[in-house]
Amino acid sequence: MDKNIIKKIRRIVGEKHYSTAPEDLHCYSYDASRQTFLPEAVAFPDSSEQVADLLRLASEHNFPVIARGAGSGMTGGSLPVRGGLILACSRLNRIIEIDQDNMVAIIEPGVITGDFQRELRRAGLFYPPDPASLKFCTIGGNVGEGAGGPSAVKYGVTKDFIMGLEVVLANGEILNTGTRTEKGVVGYDLTRLFVGAEGTLGIITKIITRLLPLPEHKETFLITSTSLTRATGLVAEILNQGITPCTLEYLDRTALSAIANLLPAPFPPEVQAILILELDGSRKEVSEQHERLLQLITAEEQKECTIQQATDEKEREQIWQARRAVSPASYQIAPHKISEDVVVPRTRIPDLVAFCEKLSREHELNILTFGHAGDGNLHVNIMHDRNQPGAAGRAEQAKKRLFKQVIKLEGTISGEHGIGITKAPYIGLELAPTAIRTMGAIKQLFDPHNILNPGKIFPQ
Ligand SMILES: Cc1cc2nc3c(=O)[nH]c(=O)nc-3n(C[C@H](O)[C@H](O)[C@H](O)COP(=O)(O)OP(=O)(O)OC[C@H]3O[C@@H](n4cnc5c(N)ncnc54)[C@H](O)[C@@H]3O)c2cc1C
Repeated sequence: MDKNIIKKIRRIVGEKHYSTAPEDLHCYSYDASRQTFLPEAVAFPDSSEQVADLLRLASEHNFPVIARGAGSGMTGGSLPVRGGLILACSRLNRIIEIDQDNMVAIIEPGVITGDFQRELRRAGLFYPPDPASLKFCTIGGNVGEGAGGPSAVKYGVTKDFIMGLEVVLANGEILNTGTRTEKGVVGYDLTRLFVGAEGTLGIITKIITRLLPLPEHKETFLITSTSLTRATGLVAEILNQGITPCTLEYLDRTALSAIANLLPAPFPPEVQAILILELDGSRKEVSEQHERLLQLITAEEQKECTIQQATDEKEREQIWQARRAVSPASYQIAPHKISEDVVVPRTRIPDLVAFCEKLSREHELNILTFGHAGDGNLHVNIMHDRNQPGAAGRAEQAKKRLFKQVIKLEGTISGEHGIGITKAPYIGLELAPTAIRTMGAIKQLFDPHNILNPGKIFPQ
């Protein structure tokens, strides 16, 4: 990027809101995939017009533009693999409108997901998508990746709550998609096209979200099991009993050992797995479901399981803090990991977990599984130490076998983390050539010069 371009970037966003200083560029060179690529510049626009001017400049001079939220993506989505400009959304962080009567909000992409939810709670409203990273990730990044979270089992994922978008296209034009009404079927559903597009089709500058009324009451339970098969089988059983938890999370024994000192009380050594289950709704609804759940867990054939309810908000928060800490705490087991977010139909979870145990034995690696079992989405973490001879190769082989098995089980290789660079070589395992060609044609239409986040999603 020559000096002339840098001068123009500075003119668009202002002297204080761009940088080419190496110490700043390093801060925007990595994400949670733990890979590193240095950008050539970083800009902090604070309006759609500034974003449009930056994209017009990029089109004219043909340099890559990579949108970045908090950089918490697990697949390298925000990394500048071909250099270029990082478009940081941290100043596009306004909650523009909360329309309480119509249960709709309009926000900018740099708003932190947890801050948005907190603001809504004050107004008695609820935006359910709750990635475990919600204290630091942004709504723009959630839309970019199509993020999900524990509440997806009852409420759905980010795509289910996005009603419309303002998007700046590669040539600097501004496109508005969707409506602020529940219904709207005029033309193609362009909104859905941008959700999960990982910043490869346009830069999102405004987001219209659906909201729900805040549930009146919530109860949190810990279910322990001395049998792995019982714990994983219980997931489908709970849902088949007509119990509709708003979260149903699973942690295996290895995951529990990583967070042992964060839990309210240690588990006996015979515990092989736990489920964290929450019920929400009106007090009457929750109480009925609570009864049904107790009957199921305490039934004669469920001897391997125990159930315990969080007694107060402090205990509930402690359980969630421990759950959210699993991913970072996993590094206590080994310094490196391949972290996948595969999904299978929930009745196949026992098969998937058994396969991970087999992979662990055959590849001589610790594999830790946890995640959103209620919707069949498990995080499979293949722990290894790259400095040990052969370990990285064994981990890569295990990952490929995992993907093939997931497809065999009629699942998908990514439920919420997206493809980025880490999964790009594998999309052909799941998508037929016609699907990849159609997606390529869409990319070509929106971004003919390939300036928007190049090198992502498609195998290079
Ligand atoms: C500890 C931990 C726990 C996690 N738990 C979960 C979880 O439970 N569920 C889950 O889904 N994910 C989870 N993640 C992954 C990650 O937090 C999500 O993918 C999140 O959506 C990324 O948001 P971000 O703001 O960090 O985006 P970034 O990582 O900065 O960007 C993600 C993608 O979105 C694109 N993007 C960002 N802003 C825009 C924009 N304005 N316009 C267009 N594209 C844009 C980027 O180019 C990139 O491709 C977790 C990560 C960590 C580290």
